[in-house]
Amino acid sequence: MPYPSQVPNSIGHVESIKDETLIEDLGNFEYDPPSPEEANDFDSVPARELSGSDDLGPSFESVYGLDGSRVEIPVGDPRFNKRIGVIDIALINLDIGTLNEEARKAYVTPSKVDGLGTEHHVRMALPSTNTRYEAPTVHESWRKMTFHNFQEKSVFDQTLFDIYFNLLERAGRFHNNRIRIEQCPAQDCNHGPQFVNSTSPDYCPVCGTTIYPTDPLRVHERVTGSQSNEAALNVLMGLIEHMVLLGAADNVWYDNPAELETTAFIKDGPLAQFDTAAWIHEPIHNKLSQFQRYLRDNGRQPLVYMGIHKTGDFAAYAQEVRDYLDGPTVLPLSNEDIYEHVIAGDRTAEYAIKTYYGKNFLYKSAKGNGTGHCLPFLIPRRYEEGPLGEKQGDATIVQDPDAYEELARAISLLERLRTVQYTDGIIPLVLAHEAASIPEDLGRRVFGRIAEKVTR
Ligand SMILES: [Zn+2]
Repeated sequence: MPYPSQVPNSIGHVESIKDETLIEDLGNFEYDPPSPEEANDFDSVPARELSGSDDLGPSFESVYGLDGSRVEIPVGDPRFNKRIGVIDIALINLDIGTLNEEARKAYVTPSKVDGLGTEHHVRMALPSTNTRYEAPTVHESWRKMTFHNFQEKSVFDQTLFDIYFNLLERAGRFHNNRIRIEQCPAQDCNHGPQFVNSTSPDYCPVCGTTIYPTDPLRVHERVTGSQSNEAALNVLMGLIEHMVLLGAADNVWYDNPAELETTAFIKDGPLAQFDTAAWIHEPIHNKLSQFQRYLRDNGRQPLVYMGIHKTGDFAAYAQEVRDYLDGPTVLPLSNEDIYEHVIAGDRTAEYAIKTYYGKNFLYKSAKGNGTGHCLPFLIPRRYEEGPLGEKQGDATIVQDPDAYEELARAISLLERLRTVQYTDGIIPLVLAHEAASIPEDLGRRVFGRIAEKVTR
């Protein structure tokens, strides 16, 4: 996602801004933002009053930042409307020691500083409009290529498939080492629940279509043969983003679990998975609880694992209230506050109970030289049931900010990672964003040429 100060690359944006009637209509809409009094009337918690703020524990040594991008690229003769999808996930490992040395200089432009950290990528191509991959339809090609990509692409020592397999296990999707599939993935077959091979392709006994162990993700349900597949690419990209950051944490866990205390993990976007693959939010949360439990049982500081809303309703809300908040402070954003001020919704239901594994907060830093940051962010939810708040059945989300012991440490890190390069920019995400950007015109030229050669 672009930073707000970046120039929109779509000509459509420019045209609509010039349209005077549209501007006038927009001006006549009525909004219902909280008044300045109301904004400070929330149960905002000054930074110094957060639990754990009296002892922040050992300094962070490294931070993982993650962002992804995806693009659909036309291939070959435009009359045939052939496209492929490309996803690029960038994982940046930032060395806090090097950052501290740089920070002694007046102004840090992260992307201009060498040696701030290392960069890892998970990149993949997917068949899109009118493009196939060793299968009779785009739909089936997508399923096959997803499985293939999951087996081929790695996060450190694990393949995406290893990470996915563990999440399936945690979600209780196995029976005698076989995976339960609710319905045959073929578009014209309704064969109901069946158990299929968990590590290699299998076949539907009714229609004979190949079923892949990655089909429970159900992203293929968003794939169309003749139109844009951006919706499917977005869902798949989101999934892989979660898996890559989780894989980075898992890698630290395997190498030296104690380092989870001094390593932080931050992704662009919410700790939430939407659409057909939403079920994965629960096993991800379960896995994070394992790390949290380890740190707690060993008397260490809690895990700092965050998502940052850079666009969308929470980001828009942050812009509305930023000038009214006296930082450094945290808004706990309870269900009621969210439904009242951020997104209208059914107040009897917990916000995003079926998609989020993080709880929303908002951090406003102290003002200084016009660079105060206002960041809506998420950290893993706690649930009322379960020893460390794992989700069990219809668990209730804990709203009391005191239960989120990592808050003080998390905002001290955000404070450390601020950059004045972009509004509300934090260094690992600026770097990850720049690393993950697939320039659209370059993509067309380079990937288009490659794909054309391959498909010839
Ligand atoms: Zn079938």
